[in-house]
Amino acid sequence: MTDEFPRVFLLGAGHSEAEAARWLGRNLRELGLGAPLVLRGIHGELLAAGIETRLDHVTPPPDADQEWTSGLGSTARRSGADAIVALGGGRCLDVAKLAAARAGIPVVCVPTQLSHDGICSPVAVVPDETNRRRSLGAISPRAVFISIPTLLISSGDAVRAGVGDLLANPFALRDWALASGRGLAATEERSWELSRGSYDLIAGDLDDDISELAKDPGFLVRLADGLIMSGRAMISAGNSRPASGGEHEISHAIDDLYGARCMHGAQVAFGCIISSALYELDVPAFRKRLERLGLPNHPGELGLGSDDMVAVLLGAPDTRPGRFTVLEDADLDENMARSLIKRIWGDG
Ligand SMILES: [Zn+2]
Repeated sequence: MTDEFPRVFLLGAGHSEAEAARWLGRNLRELGLGAPLVLRGIHGELLAAGIETRLDHVTPPPDADQEWTSGLGSTARRSGADAIVALGGGRCLDVAKLAAARAGIPVVCVPTQLSHDGICSPVAVVPDETNRRRSLGAISPRAVFISIPTLLISSGDAVRAGVGDLLANPFALRDWALASGRGLAATEERSWELSRGSYDLIAGDLDDDISELAKDPGFLVRLADGLIMSGRAMISAGNSRPASGGEHEISHAIDDLYGARCMHGAQVAFGCIISSALYELDVPAFRKRLERLGLPNHPGELGLGSDDMVAVLLGAPDTRPGRFTVLEDADLDENMARSLIKRIWGDG
């Protein structure tokens, strides 16, 4: 991991995608990248057209896993690529960060949606051979390009998930403080402030209609800044601690036991309900907020029953050995897990 912060380039609304493509190509040249390997998802095609390179563009398959990613890293190295430029959603960027780390070259991220804080973090979530999503140490991008014209055509669900990933930060910070109070982790002020600040950027938008916000360039800039700042918190800490606590463990346990039920950020927002209950906060108000935001607030929305949720609660601490959060503190057994679920959702 590197503690260097990426450069961030922003293109505001009022430009066409073709202009965005030229803006991207020009800035990559100015960064001195003349032969990048371009990795692009379907939504990155137009933007990628502005990049000059002698190398063929690559589109990751939907099931791109760690093995495929290693192959991409070797291809990048063999072909003499001077960077990997990734244009796409979360999976595309994650694969690029990991492949670039393996190839020992920089990576540039051009998100086509704002669905999680991985757009700027040194962590990559790439499935292993059993198709389980795994968080791996990778490299943080050298530069991040935020094209508002591109993001304005992304889905409302992606924006919801991006908001969901930032909802986790205050809980992750509470967990960090809890671990620190037990002498199990040391908090670090700069990372703390960056994580706190990332949430604060969108805190004033949480009672608004996300479908409307997804079309508001000003909000997209705030969300992008928030996700980038959250990534910087992780770069500064050297790990994901400032933005990942018990709520991420819940999401990882759902992935491991039942496969991903929805986008990462949405699943993490759901996990925050558990943290909020264990911290004895106002759970009904938090669930109401998720409902208004269009994020899952009941296990049924993820296709999970109460027995499934018991398994998730019991399995969650094992997803991140060594990280002490409110879940490890609660040290739930089966009966405790059952009564917690009943306390939150009743019998329904
Ligand atoms: Zn996350």
